Amino acid sequence: MKKYIGCDLGGTNMRAAIVDVETGTVLHHISVPTRAREGHEAVMKRMADLCLQLIQSADMQKKDIGGIGIGVPGALDLEKGETVFLPNLPGNWPHVPLQARIKELTGLPTALLNDVRAITNGEWRFGAGRGVDSLAVFAIGTGIGGGLVMNGHLHLGIGGTAGELGHITIDYNGPVCGCGNQGCLEAVASGPAIAAMGLKAITQGLSTRIAEISENDLNRVTAKLIAQAAREGDEIARDIYGRAGFYLGIAAANICVTVGPRRIIIGGGVSRAGDLLLEPIRRTLREHVTVMPVEQVEVVLSQLGDNAGVIGVACWAALQS
Ligand SMILES: [Zn+2]
Repeated sequence: MKKYIGCDLGGTNMRAAIVDVETGTVLHHISVPTRAREGHEAVMKRMADLCLQLIQSADMQKKDIGGIGIGVPGALDLEKGETVFLPNLPGNWPHVPLQARIKELTGLPTALLNDVRAITNGEWRFGAGRGVDSLAVFAIGTGIGGGLVMNGHLHLGIGGTAGELGHITIDYNGPVCGCGNQGCLEAVASGPAIAAMGLKAITQGLSTRIAEISENDLNRVTAKLIAQAAREGDEIARDIYGRAGFYLGIAAANICVTVGPRRIIIGGGVSRAGDLLLEPIRRTLREHVTVMPVEQVEVVLSQLGDNAGVIGVACWAALQS
């Protein structure tokens, strides 16, 4: 069985890994800075070089590799193999033929997938989603990405755009999201949104450990610091996670009645808060879902960490070849 390369195009670094897609094992991986400011052509050349260098450094040959999968942070048109909008990379990459260019530069079949759909595929095949035919992933960090598996298939929708669970509208009068809509889940429950709730508590003069731990330096207030305060028993910090978890629970409730997933997987850096976030999500689901057996929906943490994306997108490339 040939091995596949999973490549993760990040705003800061790009990483490529040789993956055994039968076991979900990362055999070898390397990474380099993306240097996105140099423009998409330079980045694509660097990515192709990275993949070829990976094969060499793993003592393998091109003929041992079945193809390359690339996880991309943004909107794609999978039918055309193009990037549509990458909000975290300079220039936004409108209509860049990423798939054809990497194939041309490496001589290997190439497939694209949104980065969180790649994580979804990885967790489904080899992580927290093993053994179920329907699930939803919320990846909570600077933004909120998502992905859906329905009836044993990664659900893609038009051009691969389906599964953007961070842009479910939670409050149609709410704060403006990076996407331009008002009150998206991402605008009220992402890492920066949680940090903003902590900042507000401090500026309102509330008595909270968040102020002590950050030494009243507003720049140091992050979702991680608020989780620390909550674990130390701070009620305000607990309430902040309770509120973020409530919003996530409302989004998850809408997914439950729409999709009937067996599992809801919470990943991304903010998920390190663990039960601070999972408990209010579970509570909200019990309180708001009445028309399906919500007690059967498991709410769990992701398992594959940083490898989920490269494993998932390598499996995706294998499926396309
Ligand atoms: Zn949005």
